[in-house]
Amino acid sequence: MAPAMPATAPGLAPDPAGASDGSGVSVAGLRKEFRMGRGQVVALEDVNLSTAAGSFLTLIGPSGCGKSTVLRILADLEAPTEGRVLVHGEAPAVARRAHHLGIAFQDSALLPWRSVEANIRLPLEVSGMKADRLVISDLISLVGLTGFERARPAQLSGGMRQRVAIARALVVEPKVLLLDEPFGALDDMTRQRLNFELLRIWSERATTTVLVTHSIPEAVILSDTVAVMSARPGRIAARVTIDLPRPRTPEMLRTARFHELHDLLSTVLFSGASPGEPAQASG
Ligand code: ADP
Ligand code: MG
Repeated sequence: MAPAMPATAPGLAPDPAGASDGSGVSVAGLRKEFRMGRGQVVALEDVNLSTAAGSFLTLIGPSGCGKSTVLRILADLEAPTEGRVLVHGEAPAVARRAHHLGIAFQDSALLPWRSVEANIRLPLEVSGMKADRLVISDLISLVGLTGFERARPAQLSGGMRQRVAIARALVVEPKVLLLDEPFGALDDMTRQRLNFELLRIWSERATTTVLVTHSIPEAVILSDTVAVMSARPGRIAARVTIDLPRPRTPEMLRTARFHELHDLLSTVLFSGASPGEPAQASG
């Protein structure tokens, strides 16, 4: 936990008080093995993560380092081989059954024959919960799709479809929002706009969020904490506290502090920092 700060990054703050009390997500000693024919792949080894309720954590790392596996375990779509995993103090299976989890992945997988409205309502229908019209229309407005309630997915742009997917993830009023490269397939400009929309949604709802992304700028502008993963086996190589003030604004993308944090993350990411020595980052 010793905040080993690089001397070249003045003002790099350690975790703010309570930022890692585990009331958001708490992962300890997580290991995941997959069977591969007669052998096995160790996808994750000794992964530890801890965030406060309402905070925004991003996982970043090379392809195949286990980012999606972490998210799938938090979502109760995979079981850990070893370790303890809690979301808002609950086991993922308990949280999922209680509709405390909202999930949106890269391939938004909207049902093509259903309208925007009907796609967003789906998780409620599936779980036999009542869909309040007002709640749905508030959500549609929250993600900026008012006027498109009756549109089919094929009539929407990629960015609009991802917004539908995020609204659908939010419809159960989750305590924890799990996003796996939700904007991965979009162009940079759309992606940047959606990043700030996501920030607005996140700040209105105070939902604990875990995001997986390939984009360093996205990680910096959105997060309270960025966990950089390394591959083979997947581990947390470093944790970096993002001390940019909130609310975050597009102007911050041009500040010296943003660039320092960006450079710090690239250095850790591309040095393939050895897992034993969390590089230049806060614990
Ligand atoms: P990332 O999302 O960081 O690209 P993943 O979590 O998808 O990485 O995968 C981590 C590792 O686990 C990879 O080596 C991948 O091939 C392996 N893996 C993931 N899911 C499975 C599975 N269902 N069966 C076997 N191996 C898997
Ligand atoms: Mg992945």
